Amino acid sequence: MTDKIQMKAPLVEMDGDEMTRIMWGMVKEKLLLPYINLKTEYYDLALKKRDETDDKITIEAAEAIKKYGVGVKCATITPNAARVKEYNLKKEWKSPNGTIRAILDGTVFRAPIMVKNIKPAVKNWKKPILIGRHAYGDVYKNVEHRIEGAGKAEIVFTTENGEEVRHTIHDFNGPGIIQGIHNLDGSISSFAEACFAYALDQKVDLWFATKDTISKTYDNNFKELFEKIYEEEYKKEFEKAGITYFYTLIDDAVARIMRSEGGMLWALKNYDGDVMSDMLASAFGSLAMMTSVLVSPHGYFEYEAAHGTVQKHYYKYLKGEKTSTNSVALIFAWSGALRKRGELDNIPELGVFADKLEAAALETIEDGIMTGDLAKLAEPPAQKTVYTAEFLDEVARRLGDEG
Ligand code: NAP
Ligand code: MG
Repeated sequence: MTDKIQMKAPLVEMDGDEMTRIMWGMVKEKLLLPYINLKTEYYDLALKKRDETDDKITIEAAEAIKKYGVGVKCATITPNAARVKEYNLKKEWKSPNGTIRAILDGTVFRAPIMVKNIKPAVKNWKKPILIGRHAYGDVYKNVEHRIEGAGKAEIVFTTENGEEVRHTIHDFNGPGIIQGIHNLDGSISSFAEACFAYALDQKVDLWFATKDTISKTYDNNFKELFEKIYEEEYKKEFEKAGITYFYTLIDDAVARIMRSEGGMLWALKNYDGDVMSDMLASAFGSLAMMTSVLVSPHGYFEYEAAHGTVQKHYYKYLKGEKTSTNSVALIFAWSGALRKRGELDNIPELGVFADKLEAAALETIEDGIMTGDLAKLAEPPAQKTVYTAEFLDEVARRLGDEG
């Protein structure tokens, strides 16, 4: 075997929970450590660790990404009431992704990982549909309140000079709920900039969709900022590149996406992007067949798998049963992060390795060897449905053969 690739700056490595944590270790051991003298600054974002540190570890990890520029993150549990009990937590900690994205700001770009033998569920989709998901604010940075009885709910904004602006949300006669959300022109503008720049880079049309007919101030603000930035900065370049920018209502966009042949970048607000990217990933084959990278306007990158911790598989694993969990999104999170590290640190070998690793994973599936989620959909049918570790061994063998 040739010498291992040496790294200069470290990657910020954020370990996670449940089945993805198990696969994280396997990916490193079987696919990375044999080839790279892996240099990482390790943050353990396992739920128990976040609880022990009062979630400081999550903030430290985000700060480390600011310092080193590139992070790679495993899936993590966002606790709900059941998790608080299961892990005996001090409190229902916020989503680590939400916390990290709020610190880094930016846009999460997602793309389906396509292989020849998995056909999209929507038969007219011929090209990948990319998603640009705003990574700041809205419901992810909300303030919520449970109303126990009659009373008046208001929005109050106090200016720096102490003047108050008030709007009544609702006069309650009985119990109910309220929620306050916000966003920032600066963050929305950088979201728009990132999407326009990415569409140009990928030479694809950009679609943006919100619900501005109903949300005449909030969503309309997104629409207007996109329009302004397009007109002032990108229109000419888009025309030159032969691509278009197109705004439409979110419900119209959903209908059009279904009838399209794909091949566009679809910009979405934070929550819409969460939901639509899971739908697209599933329709393209599996939640594990999607790449996800946060691109911050300050030049930081965070690579992750877009799916969760695959809880049901983990409980099986704990019982000693073998699982057939798909590790492709985790592999691509690592390859993406290593490629970026190589670019920033001028280590071309890292980029070459990332290409080979991705090719080996795709080749394995195209050879008919795949996990259960894909085997259900493969055409021609899978040659062999494999367990989690077996799949990684098959990828490792192909990676080794390539040298
Ligand atoms: P999930 O982990 O994404 O899994 C949902 C289902 O999708 C699984 O039960 C499995 O279906 C299938 N699936 C997802 N990833 C798969 C993979 N790699 N290989 C094969 N099948 C896969 O979502 P969840 O079960 O709703 O959430 C579990 C935990 O993940 C929650 O605590 C949540 O907070 C957390 N979460 C974290 C992130 C993140 O950190 N990025 C994102 C979302 C959710 P079958 O059971 O039918 O095989
Ligand atoms: Mg999601």
